[in-house]
Amino acid sequence: MTKWVYTFGDGAAEGSAADRNFLGGKGANLAEMASLGLPVPPGLTIVTDACTFYYQNGRSLPDDLKAQVLDGIKAMEAVTGRGFGDTSLPLLLSVRSGARTSMPGMMDTVLNLGLNDQTVEALGHNAGDARFAWDSYRRFIQMYADVVMGIDHEVFAEILEDEKARFGHELDTDLSAVEWQHVTGLYKEVIEESLGEPFPQDPHVQLWGAIGAVFASWMNPRAVTYRHLHAIPAEWGTAVTVQAMVFGNLGSTSATGVAFTRNPSTGEKALYGEFLVNAQGEDVVAGIRTPQSITEAARIDSGSDKPSLEKVMPEAFAEFGRICDRLEAHYRDMQDLEFTIERGKLWMLQARSGKRTTKAAMKIAVDMVAEGVITQEEAVLRIDPSSLDQLLHPTIDPKVERHIIGSGLPASPGAATGAIVFTAEEAVIAAEEGRKVILVRVETSPEDIHGMHAAEGILTTRGGMTSHAAVVARGMGIPCVAGAGTMRVDLRNELLVGMGVTLGKGAVITIDGSSGQVLKGEVPMLQPELSGDFAQLMQWADKARRMTVRTNADTPVDARAARSFGAEGIGLCRTEHMFFEGDRIQVMREMILAEDEAGRRVALDKLLPMQRSDFTELFAIMHGLPVTIRLLDPPLHEFLPKTEEEIAEVASAMGMEAQLLSQRVDALHEFNPMLGHRGCRLAISYPEIAEMQARAIFEAAVAAARETGAAVVPEIMVPLVGLKAELDYVKALIDKVAKAVMTEAGLDISYLVGTMIELPRAALRAHVIAEAAEFFSFGTNDLTQTTFGISRDDASAFIPTYQRKGIIEQDPFISLDFDGVGELIRIAAERGRKTRPDMKLGICGEHGGDPASIHFCESANLDYVSCSPFRVPIARLSAAQAAIGSAAKVDH
Ligand code: PEP
Ligand code: MG
Repeated sequence: MTKWVYTFGDGAAEGSAADRNFLGGKGANLAEMASLGLPVPPGLTIVTDACTFYYQNGRSLPDDLKAQVLDGIKAMEAVTGRGFGDTSLPLLLSVRSGARTSMPGMMDTVLNLGLNDQTVEALGHNAGDARFAWDSYRRFIQMYADVVMGIDHEVFAEILEDEKARFGHELDTDLSAVEWQHVTGLYKEVIEESLGEPFPQDPHVQLWGAIGAVFASWMNPRAVTYRHLHAIPAEWGTAVTVQAMVFGNLGSTSATGVAFTRNPSTGEKALYGEFLVNAQGEDVVAGIRTPQSITEAARIDSGSDKPSLEKVMPEAFAEFGRICDRLEAHYRDMQDLEFTIERGKLWMLQARSGKRTTKAAMKIAVDMVAEGVITQEEAVLRIDPSSLDQLLHPTIDPKVERHIIGSGLPASPGAATGAIVFTAEEAVIAAEEGRKVILVRVETSPEDIHGMHAAEGILTTRGGMTSHAAVVARGMGIPCVAGAGTMRVDLRNELLVGMGVTLGKGAVITIDGSSGQVLKGEVPMLQPELSGDFAQLMQWADKARRMTVRTNADTPVDARAARSFGAEGIGLCRTEHMFFEGDRIQVMREMILAEDEAGRRVALDKLLPMQRSDFTELFAIMHGLPVTIRLLDPPLHEFLPKTEEEIAEVASAMGMEAQLLSQRVDALHEFNPMLGHRGCRLAISYPEIAEMQARAIFEAAVAAARETGAAVVPEIMVPLVGLKAELDYVKALIDKVAKAVMTEAGLDISYLVGTMIELPRAALRAHVIAEAAEFFSFGTNDLTQTTFGISRDDASAFIPTYQRKGIIEQDPFISLDFDGVGELIRIAAERGRKTRPDMKLGICGEHGGDPASIHFCESANLDYVSCSPFRVPIARLSAAQAAIGSAAKVDH
């Protein structure tokens, strides 16, 4: 028999935190807390395999599930002393989703399940509070109708608004028991009218409806989008946790809240959270009422006059503090907790590793090493390399005057400027058109997720630090100011009303997600400083990693930036980029358009000093670190004008007939230029170009060695080699120039000549090519293009379709295709090293900055990765994680 159901509660549990793959994160952690003897309402978890079954069997559940769930409910009845459907002491249930990794707000939840026209009376009687019972019933109907029956919750919100107006009430809390009972009746009528059947009264029917709906919500559009954004496979499925309800809305001694054991924004070691007195479930995160601080210190910090939990419920607060310490020590990580206090009694509803900003993640990791909780290597493993992007967000220059038009909570760090849009759809359109926008909402909901992703920043006027906007923005690394109560959104007229200003759609604002301020217009920004915890972690990462990290840099600006990010040399200098600047393009064109070699040499003589000074500067910046310079690679027509107007303009500037120029451009036209006259083929057709470049490199090496005193060892790289003979030809030419320059200068320069491996033939013949090549650098952009036979310039037209249709998961131009391109890399590395055991192997395609691809490079035993300057920190951390990971594999 398949075990579909695992129970927990009363100090014991089937399963533990280690079982998250089949119990889901929520179910696994509830089981763990129950086993630790913490106060957890009893419950059961239906495993993720049941979700898989559900989708593989036409959305039906396994036959033997029912009996197992009923057994689990019996166990819950035994612990609580209540009965499911019992009309005198009813057991009420919550039904929640729980995937392997948390997907906040993406799937559906039903609370207060088990209420019907009879049990509501009993609940009121037991609680001594009929108002509470009817309020709970109407909440249940509303949630169930929305989640299970597909009736828009707006319908119920409208009824409630109308009735409140009729009764003359402003707040929900003003309604009496009788009034809630009346509203409940209206809700049921609406349901019966729209569906032609009454709201189900049988708790078992309700239960199976809710379980089915939670499984169905795994495939709802927002969950699908979320999974896509976070690379969560659809096969994982969700578990369903059914748990006995506890109530935070039983009057002034009850409450519900969420808390982090450390500050999720800054990482500071202080309990951080929010709660609401007399509230249920989602009230805190929904941002409907502004929540109160948990600790007195946080209340004072925020300047709130609403009392803290520490003040209003000191005993529950003290117990909660003890549980926080216990859980943090147990899991050795910052925890995100949900709790409810029912008439003074604390219940834990959820514990999970807390989501945090990168800044907080780094502080927490560094602090936990200092506290002796984790090792340096564990600290390195705890930072998601891609999240380092967040650190690279600019901040507002503190010296500039700020025109503040509002303020809210500093919900997600970094500053962002953009034009105001009020809907997620507008944000998406703007992003597609390349416009920068700030998404301004009263509050966000999971439906807004695509717009949040597209925006530069998010501003909400309602909700706390744990509101949807705040949690999602932090996860995405997008600056966010939440709950800006000093501002108002007038959606009807598309206006944002701030302090002293009213701004319409399209007006530019800046939000500072680190201070919570909202500023008018665009503001000067500063680049972040990469010191403190970041520097410490990077130092640990550098200690742990085996591969070195170089950068792809063609200009002094890039090279300097890369050095400041810790690059250990240049892995690829694309020399062609140097020919596009200023009047160089003109000289380059002269060279390309020259009639013969003599003409080309005249132009090349003009280019030589320019290249030499470029290289001298790069060598000086890299101060003895390796610098790999690649000979000219692109097809020559890339330097020529394209349209008729451009041709006319260039012709007149060059004092040449437009028609003649047009003929030359036509003559250079190629059908498949990426597979055409480029790479080493240029050096073979026009050796004088390669000679000039080699001369520039060696003369620069001499100059830089004399200037800086550092040993400069240029690595000259030949692109697009497929045949050893190609490399032999170009290498002979380079060696000849080297010899000449050294004789002229009277100085010996060590240098290497190597090749890019970017053609399958080169990979397969690596053992032969290695006889000539002193190093290999995998040009995985071209190697992906040539292995797949997919043009790298045209791939974006259909790769997204392939991804949507599940034909490929990842764009192979972004994340290396391990199976195909990766196999060629392994073959080339192995064969190359067989011929030349000490040869240096690196990667310089875009994949050199992609964490998953870097893990591959570690496993293929490459010596270095090279990536764009801003990805250097990501590569350093990824390389360290890969090294620690592979060391762990060897150990165990
Ligand atoms: C490559 O092909 O991977 C490479 C680095 O060269 P380029 O992108 O310049 O063709
Ligand atoms: Mg290439």
